[in-house]
Amino acid sequence: MTEEKVDIAIIGAGVIGLAVAAEISAQQPGLSIIILERNEKFGQETSSRNSEVIHAGIYYPTGSLKARLCVEGKELLYRFCEKWDVPHKRCGKLIVANTPEEEKSLAGLMEQAAANGVEDLELLEADQVKRLEPNIRANKAIFSPSTGIINSHHLMARFEKLALESGVMPAYCHLVKAVEPLSANGSGYRVHFNNPDGTADTIDCCHLINCAGLQSDQVASLAGVDPGKAGYKLHYCKGEYFSLPPSKANLVSRLIYPPPLQSLTGLGIHATITLDGRLRLGPNTVYVDREEYSVDPGHGKEFYRSAKTYLPFIAEDDLEPEMAGIRPKLSGPGEPFRDFIISEETDRGLPGLINLIGMESPGLTSALSIARMVESLIS
Ligand SMILES: Cc1cc2nc3c(=O)[nH]c(=O)nc-3n(C[C@H](O)[C@H](O)[C@H](O)COP(=O)(O)OP(=O)(O)OC[C@H]3O[C@@H](n4cnc5c(N)ncnc54)[C@H](O)[C@@H]3O)c2cc1C
Repeated sequence: MTEEKVDIAIIGAGVIGLAVAAEISAQQPGLSIIILERNEKFGQETSSRNSEVIHAGIYYPTGSLKARLCVEGKELLYRFCEKWDVPHKRCGKLIVANTPEEEKSLAGLMEQAAANGVEDLELLEADQVKRLEPNIRANKAIFSPSTGIINSHHLMARFEKLALESGVMPAYCHLVKAVEPLSANGSGYRVHFNNPDGTADTIDCCHLINCAGLQSDQVASLAGVDPGKAGYKLHYCKGEYFSLPPSKANLVSRLIYPPPLQSLTGLGIHATITLDGRLRLGPNTVYVDREEYSVDPGHGKEFYRSAKTYLPFIAEDDLEPEMAGIRPKLSGPGEPFRDFIISEETDRGLPGLINLIGMESPGLTSALSIARMVESLIS
């Protein structure tokens, strides 16, 4: 590392850290920016272990950051993908109901979506669903035409390219170990990290942006915030995926979801199509105590039971364990909804520190609107 001081240090090169780097370097070109990332490449964690769905913004409580940033982020993302040739598809999604309770929850979702500014939903009867998706089972369904899928690797590669072209310095294999305020009134930070060869080093910055995903509560704590007192403590919630065989992949052409879980812990085990024509089921919600990405083959039964209700063509032995991601959740098991935290920490005596905590879904969809919000916090 040759630099000793920069205007901005960003910790974490997931989709959000990269989007933030690209946005600030475009809007405030005079600033020197470094991204410190512990892995050897960008996007090795949550940003490459998700459903790659561009969400419409239907579910989240009105006025929450998740609702606002998702609705705004979706439009920004579609425009960005078109401008920069990022592979994506506005394939649409159906939220299906097969029981009276599920039908009731569809009505609630229609209201929630309208309150969030999602105005393109249609409530479909069984025969209308059949015309769109002849192979699925649904008494009723919500059709969301603006939901889509995206290649998140290409998106991150484009953010990285734009950031590099604007002078952002990437520092891969740089593990941040400690953060020290440079003065009592908190004008700037000294960030301690390990170089790729393991030697210890530091860099000073005026603004420190914590985009450390699953480690963001720990990084906030390094900077002097007590995660317990601040309400920043993360719970890890694994989401496993099972794949279905190629012979079944062309039996649906949209994303098929059941109604979401009550607390929005997850969106229910859904069927996702990928841009390369695969069909997979997931994710479930399993709270875990460490970063560990195995898929329990025994969970296939639960996936099968749940998906069989709306995908009658699947057989139990179709399901193959595929991959897992971990949600950095602010709510623990059984706890109510928590919003994203995007906080400039002057009120805690840490000016210039911006913490992003609990950036679970819809963080991929919202990457550009989150980046805009963070940029507006840099004066
Ligand atoms: C199962 C699952 C499904 C999802 N599906 C969707 C979806 O369909 N649509 C959607 O919009 N969102 C979805 N999400 C959410 C989305 O994936 C996340 O919101 C997004 O990827 C978060 O990006 P990030 O940059 O904050 O985190 P990450 O990608 O985790 O990046 C954080 C980075 O910080 C680095 N880091 C951490 N600590 C340090 C340190 N001390 N020093 C240096 N570097 C450090 C890590 O190495 C990592 O690269 C899903 C998430 C999960 C888990």
